[in-house]
Amino acid sequence: MKPKSNDLPESVTCLSLDQFTEWMKEMGHPTFRAKQIFEWLYQHRAGEYSEMTNLSIGLREALVSSAPLFSSKVNTTQHSSDGTIKILIQLHDGEKVETVMIPEGKRRTVCVSSQVGCGMGCVFCASGLYGMKRQLSAGEIIEQVLHIRRAMESEERVSNIVFMGMGEPLANYSNLDLSIRAFQAEWGCGIGKRHMTVSTVGLLTRAKKLAEDHPQVTLAISLHGPNDKIRNQVVPTIPHITVNDLIVAAREFFEETHRKPTFEYCMIGNLNSAKEHARELAFRLRGLECYVNLIPLNPVDEIPLDEPTRDDVNAFAAILREQGIEVAIRKRRGADIDAACGQLKLKADSQGFFERDAVKS
Ligand code: SF4
Repeated sequence: MKPKSNDLPESVTCLSLDQFTEWMKEMGHPTFRAKQIFEWLYQHRAGEYSEMTNLSIGLREALVSSAPLFSSKVNTTQHSSDGTIKILIQLHDGEKVETVMIPEGKRRTVCVSSQVGCGMGCVFCASGLYGMKRQLSAGEIIEQVLHIRRAMESEERVSNIVFMGMGEPLANYSNLDLSIRAFQAEWGCGIGKRHMTVSTVGLLTRAKKLAEDHPQVTLAISLHGPNDKIRNQVVPTIPHITVNDLIVAAREFFEETHRKPTFEYCMIGNLNSAKEHARELAFRLRGLECYVNLIPLNPVDEIPLDEPTRDDVNAFAAILREQGIEVAIRKRRGADIDAACGQLKLKADSQGFFERDAVKS
């Protein structure tokens, strides 16, 4: 969608409340309406101006043509039997990204994408198969949360946001920064930064900047191997970043923010999930303030890697715990709706899924 005026970016979601208020003033509209529109958008989950019943019909009609609320639209919505929701979003240029909401007790965590495709090439990841096509704008990141909220029950609210969908978020820093601000803002989603997590496979200079700009946001470092040889097999694109670099960065992050970083570890059968790997990892992480998330590989037809056995996963976790390391094993969620990283998009691209199964939100 092209900008409708010289000053308005691709959608209202790209703007802060101050910026939108300024735009309304320049266009000759009453400025108090900006706050009302943001309340509809962020608090009342409105998807169109026609839902904003306290605006005059004339203003609504004027804004429809001059200030589009969204630049993207939901193409497909899938509800899993375990409560997970996954949406496939079509962007203004036809590209697609996916967003997942995972319920866990009272938590409602939304996993957002930050790029179309991804250039990091992790060998287990369907998103990486495409390479990186382009960055998402801040509005396109924010819209993922606004869209998926409309698929949730009205009494449910998004409690947590994790930047762990398609893309390397720290490679799109300025838009990540703007979207964190909108998710946190009183005029926005009102989600505390302590409830947000940003993942990286190793853009450590940017991770430092994140700790300075948003010290309350949690950092998740994708490790995937106990030593450089295995890590470079899993993440072959940045061999200059060593396991030691990642551990040092985690230590510095804790010292700067007093928040424990998380190491994400995708467990792949016959590659990085044996007891000796757990022992090596435990040795390297000893004394470090951190959590470890073990993520058993979610199989994807197109990627010929082995799943770890349940025994491997449990033994690996036990070895880390024996050394006092806090470990969580990620449950597989939404398996019946292709909720693994990049899977829905993969299926859509390869099978014409959109055309056959498109559901308008
Ligand atoms: S796992 Fe994340 S960083 Fe790695 S290729 Fe996939 S999207 Fe990119």
